[in-house]
Amino acid sequence: MSQQLTKFEQFKQRLYLWVIPILVLALLSIFLDWDGNLGFLEYIGVFLIVWYVCIWILIFKGKAFRIIELLTLVINSVIHLITTFTVTYTAAIEKHDMTGSIGYWTTLTYIYIFITIYGRVGAIYSFVLWLLTLFITLSFWDSLLGGFKSNFSQYMLANLVYIIFLFSARKLIRNYTKAEILEEMAYQDQLTGIGNRRQLYMWIESFIQKSNTNFSVIFFDIDRFKKVNDEFGHKTGDQVLVEFTTVISKVLSKEDYFGRWGGEEFVIVSKRTFEQTVQLAEKLRKNVKEHSFTEIGNLTSSFGVEKYKMGDNAETILDRADKALYKAKQEGRNRVCVYKDK
Ligand code: GH3
Ligand code: MG
Ligand code: MG
Repeated sequence: MSQQLTKFEQFKQRLYLWVIPILVLALLSIFLDWDGNLGFLEYIGVFLIVWYVCIWILIFKGKAFRIIELLTLVINSVIHLITTFTVTYTAAIEKHDMTGSIGYWTTLTYIYIFITIYGRVGAIYSFVLWLLTLFITLSFWDSLLGGFKSNFSQYMLANLVYIIFLFSARKLIRNYTKAEILEEMAYQDQLTGIGNRRQLYMWIESFIQKSNTNFSVIFFDIDRFKKVNDEFGHKTGDQVLVEFTTVISKVLSKEDYFGRWGGEEFVIVSKRTFEQTVQLAEKLRKNVKEHSFTEIGNLTSSFGVEKYKMGDNAETILDRADKALYKAKQEGRNRVCVYKDK
């Protein structure tokens, strides 16, 4: 399949490959009620079946995707108008209502317009098609029976609602997705993809708010990281930070919430018991020490661990864990220290 299609087009391509066979089946079902004569509807049916089979093959081969899409749009619109004309004409002149199943598919025509030509142009195209449908039917209005008029009015109003809905749904989904991405970004560290400082505060504050206070905090920092930057450059430094994050993440479980405090400093908020959290820190220290980092080789890191105490907020518990980390640095690095009141 073609490499030049955008992601959205690739998505549509897959969608069409699934939907077209169903449409062909629906078209074939016209013939379940066939009296042996080829009438107008049957001609349209046969034409569409041939068209859809051909474009299915072309879409599968990834050929002329956009042209096929637009041509199908034009064909669907023209057929929609011709069918409207035929149905209304028959109803007005022969007093015979053959609306039948045709109405089911009009909504699909409008959906298809919005998938093919986006945004405002799609809305204008849909509205013009809607107006033409209205115009055709109004030109027979006086000859139409009451039942047909009532059905037709509902059909037109429902379609108008669909058009408005489809137009706003696109906007709604786009804005919603944008808001979701922005919110995610606001709590995510750009380099490593783990939580950022804001996220760490949020985790701790929400645990405290929900009285979920059996948690501990590990504050940790890569030893002599400045040297990595000085010797290998800032870019390698960045790669080491990402690799460091991976080494740590491998050991963590659902009970651990991992974020980057800033620079080469990280925090884990853990719902394990305090003793288990200290053991976790020790395991992390060992794993980092034993890991051979790409380009730079070995590294060590220092850890400070502290548990939640009554009356704590995010600031106070993080501050004590940071003090424990400072102690680990002072005592020679590559170690785990717990906070002790002096
Ligand atoms: P210590 O063992 O005492 O922690 O020594 P250190 O060199 O790790 O500590 P220091 O705080 O003196 O230096 C941290 C360095 O981390 C300074 C800065 O160049 C580097 N750094 C901070 N943020 C980033 C980053 O996002 N990318 C890279 N590559 N380096 C960073
Ligand atoms: Mg450091
Ligand atoms: Mg530091």
